[in-house]
Amino acid sequence: MRIDLHTHSNVSDGTESPSALIRSAVAAGLDVVALTDHDQTSGWVAAAATAQEVGIGFIPGMEITCQDSQGISVHLLSYLHDPNYQPLLDELDLALNARIIRAQRIVERLAEDYPINWDLVREHCQPGSTVGRPHIADALVAAGIVENRNEAFANVLSFRSRYYVAHPAVDPATAVQLVREAGGVPVFAHPKASARGRVVADKTFYDMIDAGLAGVEVYHRDNSEEGKRWLLKLATEHDLIITGSSDYHGTGKLNRLGENLTEPEMLQRIIQEGTGSQALV
Ligand code: AMP
Ligand code: FE
Ligand code: FE
Ligand code: ZN
Repeated sequence: MRIDLHTHSNVSDGTESPSALIRSAVAAGLDVVALTDHDQTSGWVAAAATAQEVGIGFIPGMEITCQDSQGISVHLLSYLHDPNYQPLLDELDLALNARIIRAQRIVERLAEDYPINWDLVREHCQPGSTVGRPHIADALVAAGIVENRNEAFANVLSFRSRYYVAHPAVDPATAVQLVREAGGVPVFAHPKASARGRVVADKTFYDMIDAGLAGVEVYHRDNSEEGKRWLLKLATEHDLIITGSSDYHGTGKLNRLGENLTEPEMLQRIIQEGTGSQALV
């Protein structure tokens, strides 16, 4: 069984439509794939329909942008939650609106030095999708300012750059609680991705576990090797689900479908704990 539980479509910052992503998952030889767009579930219907048509297992998911009390970014995966649970939707609405304002600010700052504007960025974003730095990166590429997304993130879009603007986001323990209330299964995404920026203090893990954290994404290319060992120990001590996944973004990132996988027993635990929506397996 080849199970990949973390992918993005163009509903957020991937480059393929939800249906195209499912077809890519089949081509990559996957048996089960989860769609986990940032702060959005609008890709679920099309992805599920295509998954049924082509005969691949499908797990509806989402990746929630959070920020801890130290201002460190946390990504929380949610599987099988009720997409209509209003308290969670309210929190996501706040975040999506804050993201638009923040992206506009970054573009304003960039526009002081580069030929870029908000209209150019919007051309790279599907209507209603989650706006983020990847779309600004695409506009910078189209304007010939950088070669690709990676170069943009390494320089002008880095969190260390003078053009960077942060945005408010839900506290991770609160997000864990909301996901559980929505019948979902909360899994901490790439918790030890030290290359991306600062990683959270141990206390943030314990706060999330106390709030009902179900699992940790151990096998992810951005986790350090030492971090993976630490996470495995944490998972054993707290009986957490262990996942592995690609974090595929189409051509937007180097990550390839199936480059990391989740064990079938771990998927079974997710399906057993998830009561807010239907797994197609
Ligand atoms: P934002 O949420 O707007 O701060 O942007 C962060 C998003 O950018 C993450 O969800 C990643 O998927 C994406 N990202 C981060 N680093 C890179 C990179 N080097 N190349 C492409 N996408 C990236
Ligand atoms: Fe992303
Ligand atoms: Fe993430
Ligand atoms: Zn992701």
